[in-house]
Amino acid sequence: MLLDYSSLLAGTGFSALCLALILFASSMATRRDGFLLTYAVAALMIVGAVITYSIYISGPDDTLIVLSFGLMLACMSTLLGAARQFRLGGPPFPIISMAAISIPVALLPIVLGFNGIGFILTNSFASLLLCFAALEFWRGRAEAPMAIAGLCVLYLVVAISFACCAGVLLAEGNWILSAAPDNWAEKFNTIAVVAAVPSVGALALALNQTRLARQHLHSAMTDPLTGLLNRRALFDAVVDTPLAGDAAVAVFDIDSFKAINDQHGHATGDRVIVEFAQAMNRHCAGSDLAARLGGEEFALVLRRTTADQMVARADAIRNDFAAQMAATHGIPCTASAGIAFVGPNGHQFEATLNAADGLLYQAKREGRDRTLIAAVRIVSDQSVKPSSSRP
Ligand code: GH3
Ligand code: MG
Ligand code: MG
Repeated sequence: MLLDYSSLLAGTGFSALCLALILFASSMATRRDGFLLTYAVAALMIVGAVITYSIYISGPDDTLIVLSFGLMLACMSTLLGAARQFRLGGPPFPIISMAAISIPVALLPIVLGFNGIGFILTNSFASLLLCFAALEFWRGRAEAPMAIAGLCVLYLVVAISFACCAGVLLAEGNWILSAAPDNWAEKFNTIAVVAAVPSVGALALALNQTRLARQHLHSAMTDPLTGLLNRRALFDAVVDTPLAGDAAVAVFDIDSFKAINDQHGHATGDRVIVEFAQAMNRHCAGSDLAARLGGEEFALVLRRTTADQMVARADAIRNDFAAQMAATHGIPCTASAGIAFVGPNGHQFEATLNAADGLLYQAKREGRDRTLIAAVRIVSDQSVKPSSSRP
């Protein structure tokens, strides 16, 4: 054997200590997801458990093993808490309940003089808690399938190694031990832990980075006031999945909005903008794209529609908004819309948007509170003849 058992234990302790420092530093830097901090606490517990276990090996004393196993079970409960926290957010709740069950049950036999039973129970609980943690991660695997699958494999290998430790002692019927057990399962367990500690740490950091990148992308693509797509995200969406000829674009603008800001204040103006976004959401589904282009101007893209359907959808949104404004805010407020179709060549999103915008401003000039739609589908032609719809 290249390394003796004590060297392996020392290696585990050192790598856990380094990992704890890295995780603390990373969690302080990001401050978004608590699960890194929970992992750091678990890594520190490993350090404590390894130090006390190493002292126990050189001079067996049941007080030391109670301390070491207590720390180890607290660590496994914390790992389960970190997994839950990663998946659901919020505080790592299972830590206290799992530690409160496993620690007294596993350590009581040691206090009563049956330290062998204490070893068996501690190893069994450690194995179970790691399986639960792996299961918790597995349930959230959609977020980062490869990294989470790797994490689950590591947890399961270590869980198996703990189960082997319990199994060997159980098979030997060793209820009272005079020294720390030294068998193939203990060595397998230590090697598994040495390998798993830095690997789990690296995967936890990778998961955190993936999540941060996704959150940044989401906020770069989302309008912060309404939660709708922003202008850039709308353009990206139609580049990713180009529009066909029967796609249509409606552009909306709230009527006389400056007057609402002036009379009721900017905060009320913001609530009116949110009210319009909510009306859009109530009338959007599936592949429909709803975006805030800026100010109180919005766009709706339907990928396959007819002129009648598109006008009906735009009017439903405008009517819903006006009704909500009257009922909820007691402020009479309407919106206007312009609609254009992409046309036979497809892909002309910007030209379609401009054509819809031109019709929107024609609707404004004709008295507001109406929808105008291009009578012909060749939208690059600026001289489209509109038809009108008033509720
Ligand atoms: P029209 O019927 O012709 O559209 O008249 P209008 O008063 O609505 O004119 P316009 O569309 O040009 O008004 C845009 C106003 O929206 C100007 C700007 O002060 C206001 N605005 C732009 N962004 C925001 C915002 O995020 N919140 C609020 N409260 N107001 C905004
Ligand atoms: Mg306006
Ligand atoms: Mg405007």
